[in-house]
Amino acid sequence: MLDLIKIRKELHSKPELSGKEVNTVEFIKNIIQEFNPDKLLELAGSLIVVFKGSKKGKNMAFRADIDALPIQELNSFEYASKTKNTAHLCGHDGHAAILLGLAEKLSQNKPKEGSIVLIFQSAEETGQGVKALMINKVFLDLQINEIYGIHNIPGFELGKLLLNAGTFSNASTGMDHPVLHDPNYDFPDEIIDKAINLLYIYSIKK
Ligand SMILES: [Zn+2]
Repeated sequence: MLDLIKIRKELHSKPELSGKEVNTVEFIKNIIQEFNPDKLLELAGSLIVVFKGSKKGKNMAFRADIDALPIQELNSFEYASKTKNTAHLCGHDGHAAILLGLAEKLSQNKPKEGSIVLIFQSAEETGQGVKALMINKVFLDLQINEIYGIHNIPGFELGKLLLNAGTFSNASTGMDHPVLHDPNYDFPDEIIDKAINLLYIYSIKK
């Protein structure tokens, strides 16, 4: 049985940025090969694994992202990032390990009908990985009917799933908003009001 904690730590120590997950893909591929999947494809930087059933049916996919963030890791544990200014601080190392666990289960218990596709997706943080897949002919030919993905959310009870109707955790592009205040003006508390107003505007949800 795969040691998923060890795999997660290994991935954590060797993070790669969006679109550059060459060694990560290689690492995952080496493990997956042992499971004799029906297809193992490298498409647009992502790794696609297919387990087929013997009959026709629904094709379902499960997705894990594999890219890290351009941030210096400040942790000092032994599996902390060995790469400067690159770290798995979004937990994609964990997502990839979870999907590897599913691959092992599927190799022991193949789908009866249809197929199960595992997508180890490159460049989630930039949005480019999925964009490239969605126009990739080989990927589209897999005719996937449903795709499921998860994202870890720290701070919630262990073992609980959070579901949301509609979109969830959308990508952001960033925004600068200067707060200007005349230092000669006699009401310094107003600058705090302005900052609070901004926070309020940013936190408005539908
Ligand atoms: Zn993430």
